[in-house]
Amino acid sequence: MLQDLPFGRLENEFRNIHPEQNDIVVCVRENSILIKRDEHDALTLPTCAQVGEWAYANNWEHWNEESFQYVFRMQDVNYFIWMGEAGEPGDPAYAYEMARMLRQVNSKHICFAAMTAWHLFSWYRNSRFCGRCGTPTVHDGKERMMRCPHCGNMIFPRISPSVIIAVTDGDRLLLSKYANRAHTRYALLAGFTEIGETGEQTVEREVMEEVGLKVKNIRYYKSQPWGVDGNLLMGFYCDLDGSDEIDLDRDELAMADWFHRDNLPAKDDGISLTREMIRVFGEGREPK
Ligand SMILES: [Zn+2]
Repeated sequence: MLQDLPFGRLENEFRNIHPEQNDIVVCVRENSILIKRDEHDALTLPTCAQVGEWAYANNWEHWNEESFQYVFRMQDVNYFIWMGEAGEPGDPAYAYEMARMLRQVNSKHICFAAMTAWHLFSWYRNSRFCGRCGTPTVHDGKERMMRCPHCGNMIFPRISPSVIIAVTDGDRLLLSKYANRAHTRYALLAGFTEIGETGEQTVEREVMEEVGLKVKNIRYYKSQPWGVDGNLLMGFYCDLDGSDEIDLDRDELAMADWFHRDNLPAKDDGISLTREMIRVFGEGREPK
């Protein structure tokens, strides 16, 4: 999966530091990230020195020391985000690419860094004012938290839990396709956890809402941070309980159907929890 990195994990504890010339900077414009893609699809993010030059030469908005926000450290390199609206790069090899489309397995740690930085960028951008009293917030000196200097409100990074659901019936797996999407691929059912709900209850509710089926024996598999949507995805397998007749929610899904373990129409992409769960079922290795 995207977050399974050969060198371990990213170091996500907050540090109160300023960027050095060789640190990496993730620049965001709308939903896109500034990135260089070579002829082998290997991805590179720019350094602080490059971004500083481009910002100065091309008059990027709000360029000063405060424009850089430290986010995490990976393989002994510090990563920052550019907090203003990023402008044109001074190197034509760089271009803006949609964060959610970055799925290059051979540059997995760069894709993961970009998606995670995007998640943090969105949170910082949306946390500039206190939601309780409207005062501009300041960053806490010790941890990743925005604090209101007027009323003391503490705002922590927002992560939305949601579930990925593999509904099984013996050797059959339920696969679906989303409605209203340009590129529809086979997927597992999915949905957000509501307040006051356990992950298992989300599974039961979403399966009933989306396909009208009852399930039992709900068992947890693995989780995945999915920064482009601000999610923590929790993967569950469960068994059909009763009728297999699908009653499709056509607002959410274009189709849903049962597929045999030996004939699953989706390959593992090495990136998503959904694809790994489909492969694991195909291999008969899902938790029982
Ligand atoms: Zn306040």
